[in-house]
Amino acid sequence: DFIFYLLILPSITSCRMSREQKAVECARKAFLTGRSKPLEHRIRQLKNLQRFLLEREKEIAEAIKKDLNKSEAGTQLYETLGLEGEIVLAVKKLAEWVAPRPVEKNLLTISDTVYIQPEPLGVVLIIGAWNYPWAVTIQPLIGAIAAGNAAVVKPSEVCVHTAKVMEDLLPAYIDKELYPVVTGGVSETQELLRQRFDHVFYTGNSMVGKLVMEAAAKHLTPITLELGGKSPCYIDKNCDIPIACRRVTWGKYSNCGQTCIAPDYILCEPSIQDRVLEEIKKSIKAFYTEDPKTCPDYGRIINQRHFKRIMAMTEDSTIAIGGDSDESTCYIAPTVLKDVQVNSKVMQEEIFGPLLPILTVSGVDEAINFINKGEKPLALYIFSPDDKVIKKVIAETSSGGVLANDCLVHYSVSALPFGGVGNSGMGSYHGKFSFDNLSHLRGCLIKQLKMEGVNDMRYPPHTAKKLFW
Ligand code: NAD
Repeated sequence: DFIFYLLILPSITSCRMSREQKAVECARKAFLTGRSKPLEHRIRQLKNLQRFLLEREKEIAEAIKKDLNKSEAGTQLYETLGLEGEIVLAVKKLAEWVAPRPVEKNLLTISDTVYIQPEPLGVVLIIGAWNYPWAVTIQPLIGAIAAGNAAVVKPSEVCVHTAKVMEDLLPAYIDKELYPVVTGGVSETQELLRQRFDHVFYTGNSMVGKLVMEAAAKHLTPITLELGGKSPCYIDKNCDIPIACRRVTWGKYSNCGQTCIAPDYILCEPSIQDRVLEEIKKSIKAFYTEDPKTCPDYGRIINQRHFKRIMAMTEDSTIAIGGDSDESTCYIAPTVLKDVQVNSKVMQEEIFGPLLPILTVSGVDEAINFINKGEKPLALYIFSPDDKVIKKVIAETSSGGVLANDCLVHYSVSALPFGGVGNSGMGSYHGKFSFDNLSHLRGCLIKQLKMEGVNDMRYPPHTAKKLFW
């Protein structure tokens, strides 16, 4: 009997394991074989991922069209092209990134070898959000592979079709034991979060971010939280208002306002409010025609819950542009609200939809005070021809990132860390920052078993003679 139980027990326990537990165990086992570490493996996997993005372009675009009504061009522009760029960069630079990094020596280490050796962390959990489902899920995976980790990938359940393409097609391209895809909703994510990981990389809202942090704390697991918030946009009265407004309109209404770094609201002096309104109106018409509802480049709100949430925000403000909506198709027209008050509904939380409130301030000082009263935002936008104004805002505020005289595009600069601060998140990624974030930077000091005489002073007994010679 004893022998029988000994043989059968492992299979009983493995049957009782949840799908999530199995995926984590499988990734852990694969990581422990050591095969994720060699440079050639990482490069091969990254190239396979690139091949997946190219060969499955059609399936990716079709799924996203069904999930978010995004056009094929939009998917390429906002999702896959950026990923390909990150892969190309990682493949080109990886030998440099993985190499030991010599550090400055001092008198005590002059004859030693002193360096930092990046090493993989182990098994990373990647939890993606729905708004740019490929960008926010695969980009951390690029970092995890480059850094030599295993990774469990959990795409957002909100994009059902995209999650299915990831689950069904990705395993044919990259090592499916090292990088398993686990689909599911809140309970599956919670089950994953009960497991022990070496890093959790979460993208989504701040409320769930706190739950992720709580779950990770139980295992002392380090985390990256890519969250959102209300990203302000200050428009200086001296700037080229038509150009500024065209760029703001693009940043705000891309993906129907469902972009973590979308300008959430505008701050400007009362004297330019009407011109700002007029120019935004012109840009909306130029981008999305008189009837955005029929324009293929204008998206929809992800679901009815968010539709209702966003529409309720307009109740106590004055609509200056747009305002039309259709609940059955989750359509909300590009909308601008004017003379908005600080305590109005639209200013209480991240909008994450196509509403653009304008609040008037007396100038840059009041704008800075206003920004500093809120939570630290993910992005901060300043439109001004004056470098001094730009530098003043940068010096006197804090945010995940800053972009002057444009919107969104700082996201695509791989040389800049992308991430939040305070309520907008912790940790950053993109380019080498992804690699460093998902590596342990190990301090290494190699001494020789020579020159023992110099150590005499540190060995007891600590006599006065030794200390003062
Ligand atoms: P979402 O609903 O897709 O949720 C994100 C992930 O969290 C999903 O995988 C989901 O399964 C999981 N989740 C949801 N509830 C959970 C719970 N109770 N416990 C455990 N896991 C749970 O996405 P969302 O949160 O609606 O995304 C929108 C938010 O994400 C916005 O605030 C936006 O600003 C932010 N965002 C940030 C970035 C960034 O890079 N900083 C990028 C995209 C989106």
